Amino acid sequence: SRVRVMELELSPSQTFGEIGGLTDQIEEVREAVEYPLTRPEVFKRLGVEPPKGILLYGPPGTGKTLIAKAIAHNANATFIRMSGSELVHKFIGEGAQLVRELFQLAREKAPSIVFIDEIDAVGSTRTHDGTSGSAEVQRTLMQLLAEMDGFDNRGEIRIMAATNRPDMLDPALLRPGRFDRLIEIPFPDKTSRQDILKIHSKNLSLKDVDLNVIAEMTEGATGAELEAICREAGMIAVRQNADYVVMENFQSAVEKVRHKKAEPDTRMY
Ligand code: ATP
Repeated sequence: SRVRVMELELSPSQTFGEIGGLTDQIEEVREAVEYPLTRPEVFKRLGVEPPKGILLYGPPGTGKTLIAKAIAHNANATFIRMSGSELVHKFIGEGAQLVRELFQLAREKAPSIVFIDEIDAVGSTRTHDGTSGSAEVQRTLMQLLAEMDGFDNRGEIRIMAATNRPDMLDPALLRPGRFDRLIEIPFPDKTSRQDILKIHSKNLSLKDVDLNVIAEMTEGATGAELEAICREAGMIAVRQNADYVVMENFQSAVEKVRHKKAEPDTRMY
């Protein structure tokens, strides 16, 4: 079914308060995506063209999807997510048609935020095995470019995409009038890691837990991993039938979660 490849959410509940760090990046995305929807008259009055497509790039699990959802929340817009890799790998022969349907849906549900995750699967100069993209993937990409060229950037549809592999993207996608605003979403620094840990442990009954120390220990961890650490620390305390989640639980959780990460990763980040 097509339900999986396209995920639709009316005004998601995600807020910026639930995103740790990324303050500058969030402001940049709001200016490019949210304000054209919520304050179109300002852009019109000043004769400013909003950017057409915004590409968020950086390691997996660092908050790209969270930002797109929070923008949709703030703009009271429909969030429509499509996975580039599912589009290419699970819906062979239907890619171009699905892209058409995606934009049709975005028009019907406007104002809307279209979020294409793993866009490199559709718009890659090379495939992961080093061969050139198939004719089918090419057709899907052509359809995406045609849809982007055809819509008005002052309209009620904003388009965002995400990738872990910006180096692999077909330059055709990055031309002016397409994904012409690139924003890096990096690994969180120590202060951001502490922020993220605080967000994901806010419901835990903590006792003498210094999140600053945990942030110190988790250099190179992504937001997704920090969330997993909080969840795991809580589960360890549950197993011990403890009254509180304590520092030692976090230390064990860090070891467990970060150990998994040490396994080989074929991606760039
Ligand atoms: P992918 O490229 O794998 O899709 P992504 O960058 O879109 O990754 P998200 O889906 O936004 O990653 O993040 C995954 C989960 O990790 C989120 O649901 C959230 O719980 C947690 N997370 C990631 N980054 C942050 C952050 N900056 N603040 C709070 N939580 C975060």
